[in-house]
Amino acid sequence: MPTSVRPEETPLDFPWADAPEQETCIEVAPGVHWIRMPLPFALDHINLWVLEESDGWVLVDSGFDSAVTQEIWSRLFGTVFAGKKPKRLICTHHHPDHMGLAGWLTKTFDIPLSTTQKEWDAFHLWSRLEPDAVVQMMSRFYERGGVSSDRQEIDLRRRKDMSARERITPKAFDRIEGADEIEIDGKDWTVNIGTGHAPELAALFRADDKVLISGDQVLPRISPNVSVMPFALDADPLKDFLDSLDRFRTLPIDTLVLPSHKLPFYGLHDRIDALKSHHMDRLDDALTACDEPITAATATTVLFPRALNDHQYFFALGETLAHLNFLWCDGQISRDEDESGTFIFKRM
Ligand SMILES: [Zn+2]
Repeated sequence: MPTSVRPEETPLDFPWADAPEQETCIEVAPGVHWIRMPLPFALDHINLWVLEESDGWVLVDSGFDSAVTQEIWSRLFGTVFAGKKPKRLICTHHHPDHMGLAGWLTKTFDIPLSTTQKEWDAFHLWSRLEPDAVVQMMSRFYERGGVSSDRQEIDLRRRKDMSARERITPKAFDRIEGADEIEIDGKDWTVNIGTGHAPELAALFRADDKVLISGDQVLPRISPNVSVMPFALDADPLKDFLDSLDRFRTLPIDTLVLPSHKLPFYGLHDRIDALKSHHMDRLDDALTACDEPITAATATTVLFPRALNDHQYFFALGETLAHLNFLWCDGQISRDEDESGTFIFKRM
């Protein structure tokens, strides 16, 4: 295993120096159009893909559920995508920037949604939780993690507001699964499943000209978040993620990768190697931190020493737990509970 190649230092080849301006598109491969939508986070954009068929457009991912995204979609079909109608939506995974607007898109344009079973289930698990249930689940998660009560309070208030929002959710879906071939405009896109970032992320690979719509599974410059979820505290998502990266590494070395964030790139194998080595380094750091008994919250300050806002803190804690659970499941550290139910990790 190579060491110490930081993900942001991977030498990759970016064929486009800039992303498309808002409400314009770039055709990155035959019939594959790249658009961008804004996100209201520090990561301020998502890439979406619009695939051309003779009788309409296949949309890959929906964008975030906001009035701004709705307006942009509506205008796009009167401007750059005028002349044909949307005919199908495929969502790579359930996260709100990818599937958040799926309900609105399928309803507004009367189109079907395709996604995997686990992503459909995960989307509805989150969208059906009552605000009080979210607070209860998150409180328990934070207690297990040993998070301070003021940090908890700010986040729980935010979550209660978020989960109380009215949303249009998709009512039906067509299931896709690993190795399915989806024919679009006479060419097959093969479903490649990624795990660890999301439960059953559907990346789409067109072997004909070696194009991969990677979702969040492989991103340039960013290490995709891999988190223990509040409802699966014993899970080992980092192992799932690393294992699925090995499967993606069997795709051709000269694949054009179309990621959901940042810029399209060549260098799939190098990028996968760098992501794996990044996690191996973090595992080393986590193991060293466990020389003394440690809570997940304290380990988070070791793995993420920079200041984190509340949104980032949840991901950092989840990702730290993912590294600790990996070591625990691998028998390198122990995990016990103190009298208040907080997990205490310790090197064996
Ligand atoms: Zn995601």
